Amino acid sequence: MKNIVGTLLLVAASVFTQAQNSLLSQKVSELNFYQLPYEYSALEPVIDALTVETHYSRHHKAYFDNFMKLAADLKFSEMTLGEVFSKASSYPAGVQNNGGGYYNHILYWEILKPGNRKGMSPALNSAITRDFGTIDNMIAQLNDAALKRFGSGWAWLVVEGNGKLKIGSTPNQDNPLMDVSDFKGIPLIGIDVWEHAYYLKYLNKRGEYVKNFWSLVNWEVVSTLYDEAIKKQ
Ligand code: MN
Repeated sequence: MKNIVGTLLLVAASVFTQAQNSLLSQKVSELNFYQLPYEYSALEPVIDALTVETHYSRHHKAYFDNFMKLAADLKFSEMTLGEVFSKASSYPAGVQNNGGGYYNHILYWEILKPGNRKGMSPALNSAITRDFGTIDNMIAQLNDAALKRFGSGWAWLVVEGNGKLKIGSTPNQDNPLMDVSDFKGIPLIGIDVWEHAYYLKYLNKRGEYVKNFWSLVNWEVVSTLYDEAIKKQ
């Protein structure tokens, strides 16, 4: 399993080439806070501007700041982000909480990026059809994973080492790239189900937020992530 995860990390290194140059292969000391590529109001009416502003400039920023402090204190600044995830179990929980918080939110903002909505690629479309029957069925399963995650966490669509698409969830800010996670793969979609992601507008109605989330998904970005994830398999 270790070997498979190692391979996944190498492949995933190119996942965020559009956002940050090879995010997972960057040394922690070279990481920057993510630049949100759109206005806070860009996801309205599904996600309101105040939620995006608070989520990005306070929550996401705090994860990054805390992660960089931990890197200095625990002396892992010269490791890559991918290496840190693959060895998360050897560090205090703050490393997975804040390192995951930094990475997971970059994926979240990227796949919700407005514009360039040319739709899903034929390759991703056929992979989803192959593994879930229909796109609606995949969405229903991911929504179900998001609703069943008790408390704070994330629901994911990932590619496994064998190229198969899979749905699952993780608690807190864990992600499927971490050795501590039972659910592993290269993330293509991550739905943040922490209350801070939806509570201002949706209150306790997580189901409504998750249902509406799909109208924002930028399938062109998700298709690119899929292409990069399977390229080296
Ligand atoms: Mn969040």
